[in-house]
Amino acid sequence: MGGTVAGDANDSLTWAILVAAGSGARLGADRPKAFVALGDRVLLAESLERLDASAWIDAVVVAAPPDWEEAAIVLAEEIVASKVAAVVTGGATRAESVRAALAEVPDSAVVVVVHDAARPLVDDAVIGRVIAPLAEGVDGVVPALPLADTVKRVEEGLVVETVDRSALVTVQTPQAFDAAALRAAYRDGDLAEATDCASLVEARGGRIRIVAGDPRLLKITTAADLALVESWL
Ligand code: C5P
Repeated sequence: MGGTVAGDANDSLTWAILVAAGSGARLGADRPKAFVALGDRVLLAESLERLDASAWIDAVVVAAPPDWEEAAIVLAEEIVASKVAAVVTGGATRAESVRAALAEVPDSAVVVVVHDAARPLVDDAVIGRVIAPLAEGVDGVVPALPLADTVKRVEEGLVVETVDRSALVTVQTPQAFDAAALRAAYRDGDLAEATDCASLVEARGGRIRIVAGDPRLLKITTAADLALVESWL
């Protein structure tokens, strides 16, 4: 567990969890993905500064890679990310990192927004798009993009079926949730199966709405992704 950066955040209603604890093995860098260079600073700085600056967000918890908690705290101080309430040590999987961060979110929180640090170009427009529909009573809201390519189901290298792509989307982060629904999903859910937070809420019967995603929310996985996002900065 890392240290607490900011003061008392119990009055905060909308919390953001920024998961940054991945190793980023596919980038081939000598450090975790969150700490590779993006432009003239580290990747984590971009999303952390953007969440911190968002009027939608009251407080932020960062899940940092093991042994990089202090570096995350120093970074938050350097960029004056004053909403950072805690930095926690991430887990072995994304879902475990979210669970560790969720433990730092107080019961008074109403909305929790979970975002991948690997998607640096988060902006206020998409944060607003995912938070606003929660007022209508859904349990979660995720940004989605239509599929551009034809999709086929394959078995052992042979096409079994061409899937109707009109009913399919790919989803991104930030994902926004009713705090109680997200907590219940992480308490009861099978984290081993979860590649995003919404799937755990869906598994309990929660209702998830989609809103327009943004191609610039590309998740950085490879060095080519990093170069592309850098060119958009
Ligand atoms: O590995 P991938 O890029 O899909 O991870 C998505 C996000 O989840 C990244 O921001 C990464 O830092 C985070 N993550 C994490 N803890 C893990 C694995 C991934 O916080 N154990």
